[in-house]
Amino acid sequence: MLRQVLLAVSRSERAQRVVSTSPLTRDVVRRYVADDIGRAVDELTRRGLLVSVDHLGEDVHDRTQAEGAVQAYLALLGRLPDGSDVSVKLTALGLRLSEQLALDNAATICESAASRGITLTLDAEEHDTVAALHSIHATLRKEHPSVGVVVQAYLPDSVERCRRLEGARVRLCKGAYTAPDGYTSAAEIDRSFARCLRVLMAGTGYPMVATHDPRLIRIASALAVLEGREPTGFEFQMLYGVRPHEQERLAAEGARMRVYVPFGSDWYPYLMRRLAERPANLAFFARSLLSRG
Ligand code: FAD
Repeated sequence: MLRQVLLAVSRSERAQRVVSTSPLTRDVVRRYVADDIGRAVDELTRRGLLVSVDHLGEDVHDRTQAEGAVQAYLALLGRLPDGSDVSVKLTALGLRLSEQLALDNAATICESAASRGITLTLDAEEHDTVAALHSIHATLRKEHPSVGVVVQAYLPDSVERCRRLEGARVRLCKGAYTAPDGYTSAAEIDRSFARCLRVLMAGTGYPMVATHDPRLIRIASALAVLEGREPTGFEFQMLYGVRPHEQERLAAEGARMRVYVPFGSDWYPYLMRRLAERPANLAFFARSLLSRG
C-alpha cells in the first residue's frame, strides 16, 4: 500500500516541486545519487567494482530534451574506463514521442559506446513501455550483439521473456514499478526471479543478477556453479549506496560486481522508487528532514 502511494507520488509534479526544492533532502539524495560522477566512478573502480552509469532523466516531452540526453551520454562515455556500461532509459530518449526516435537515439549512443569498449543496457520502465523496449533491443542487437536489456521478475511473462532472450546480455531485477497483471507479493516475485535465474544461467547468454537480496544472491551463485559457469560468465549488480559492504565482499570473493551509478539533477523519480522499495528508507528520509528542521 505504502509502496503504491510512493510510486504515485513519484509521478506527481506538485510533490516533485516540494521535495526537489527542499535543501533538506540533500543528504538522502547524496546517498543514492553521485554528486560528482567522475569521482564516484574512480572510487568504485579503485575498490575493484565495475560500473553502469545512468544519466538521470525519464519521460521527456520534446525532441530537444531527448537530444540533450543523447549529448549527456556521449560526453559521459569519454570519462568512463574500459569495461564500463551505461544504463539508458528509452523514455529519456523520446520513447513517449516516437519509437523510431528512441531507437535512433539509442543507436547513436550504442555506436559511440562500442567504439570505446563500453556496453549499453536498456533499463526497463513502466509496463506500457515493455513491448517497445524489447522491440528496440531486438533491432539494436542485430548491429550490436552486446547491447543488454532488463527483465523485471514481477511481470508474469518474465520467464518466457528470458527464454526468448537466449544468448543476450540480460539484467534480471525484481521490478521497481507496478503493473495491472504484475505479481505483488514478495514470495511470488522471488519465485519468478529464481525461475528466470534458472533459465538465464542454463542458457548461453550473459546473466546480470541485479538484486540486494541475500537469498537470491545465494541461489544465483549456486546455479552458476551447477551450470559450470566461470566467475567471468555472469555478474552481480547493485545500486549505488545500497549494501556497499556486500558489494565489496562479492568482489573480494572474485565475483564480477557492477554498481549502478545514477547522476544528474533529475533525481526525483529515481529517489522516490528507492524509498518505495524499502519502508526503512522512509524513516531515514524523515529522520534526516527532522534533524535538519
Ligand atoms: P528487495 O527485496 O527490495 O531488497 C532486498 C534487501 O536489499 C532489503 O532487505 C534491503 O536490505 C536491501 N535493499 C533493497 N533496496 C534497498 C534500498 N533502496 N535501500 C536500502 N536497502 C535496500 N528496476 C526496474 O524496474 N527496471 C530497471 O531497469 C532496474 N534496474 C536495476 C538495476 C540494478 C543494478 C539494480 C540493483 C536494480 C534495478 N532495478 C530496476 C530495481 C529493482 O527492480 C528493485 O526494485 C530493487 O533492486 C530492489 O529489489 P531487490 O532485488 O534488491 O530486493
